[in-house]
Amino acid sequence: MITQSRFDRHELARMIAAQGDDHRLLLEQSARVTLQTIGDSVWLRGLIEFSNICIKNCYYCGIRRDNRLTSRYELDDDAIVQAALFARDKGYGSIVLQAGERNDAAFVDRIGRLLCQIHEKTHGELGITLSLGEQDAQTYRYWKQCGAHRYLLRFETSCEQLYYQMHPHDHRHDYQTRLQCLQALKSCGYQVGTGVMIGLPGQSFHHLADDLLMMQQLDIDMVGMGPYLEHQQTPLYQRRHELWPVQRRFQVALNMIAALRLLMPDINIAASTALQAIDPMGREKALRIGANVLMPNITPSVNRRNYQLYDNKPCVDEGADDCSSCIRLRVEMVGRKLALGEWGDSQHFFNRN
Ligand code: SAM
Ligand code: SF4
Repeated sequence: MITQSRFDRHELARMIAAQGDDHRLLLEQSARVTLQTIGDSVWLRGLIEFSNICIKNCYYCGIRRDNRLTSRYELDDDAIVQAALFARDKGYGSIVLQAGERNDAAFVDRIGRLLCQIHEKTHGELGITLSLGEQDAQTYRYWKQCGAHRYLLRFETSCEQLYYQMHPHDHRHDYQTRLQCLQALKSCGYQVGTGVMIGLPGQSFHHLADDLLMMQQLDIDMVGMGPYLEHQQTPLYQRRHELWPVQRRFQVALNMIAALRLLMPDINIAASTALQAIDPMGREKALRIGANVLMPNITPSVNRRNYQLYDNKPCVDEGADDCSSCIRLRVEMVGRKLALGEWGDSQHFFNRN
């Protein structure tokens, strides 16, 4: 069953902009649909940010290539495997391997070897998601054969013009390539995740409505989207006076999650870390109204402070244990239950296949 669009872009734009009673009613409706369709389970993916080395120069991102003030790091294989074992032992079901983008042969081979190693050491018990940017179809296929089965690649915005205001217009930041990558991932058989940033300078509610419609059109399995947050050492910081206040970005992000849940009831939606950067209970609020995936950070804390996509990223000083100990409590507080030891695949992926 593939869900058809129930809303046009004007209706969606109105929902995304909702405030006051309209906002409250939208969130209530989405919470109801979530419980009716995918239930009250929340799945965990241990997030391993294993390197901040990146060949790209996205204008919004703190670890962009030209930010000379970031000290670069790369976890060795052993540290990554240890983090994966930690996730498995804590019952996290899945991990996400995320890093800055690289596509040299040594990197592609290394990821392949790592995937095999993790698969072997955990006896195939962990679901493995990659978030390693744009690669050619051959690389995606190779990594899938090595044991990855989900991939996250945000298209960031469905408006090509806005995309080029957020990225340099060159061969490394080509909008059509980004979309082709999403198609390639689908053809390789991945569960495909995408997403956007919410509250970018110059972004309108109709842009955001188009983003949701594009997710539906791409028939995506998973979505991770959150508020755009400034980083002082990036070019986009110059446009900070154009931004909505952070609380408005937060409210709009919740509206986006709720509207998407109504549009695509059976997909997985992550409660993004950026929500927590604005509101300490931000991710839990998202779980209450439609998100069903949480990505606790299990990167060793010594490296975490150097994976600063935006200023004031939460939990940079905590170890993986500190973060995991309070998860159950926080999830239960919003009436959801942790599904430990399960991969938590997207129902939509099976429904569309
Ligand atoms: N390099 C890979 C990529 O770009 O797909 C994976 C890592 S990248 C840091 C993951 C996501 O972080 C991006 O897709 C982007 O949406 C988000 N991000 C980067 N800078 C951000 C910012 N300043 N505020 C909010 N999200 C940001
Ligand atoms: Fe690199 Fe990803 Fe940041 Fe862009 S968003 S600069 S690709 S880490």
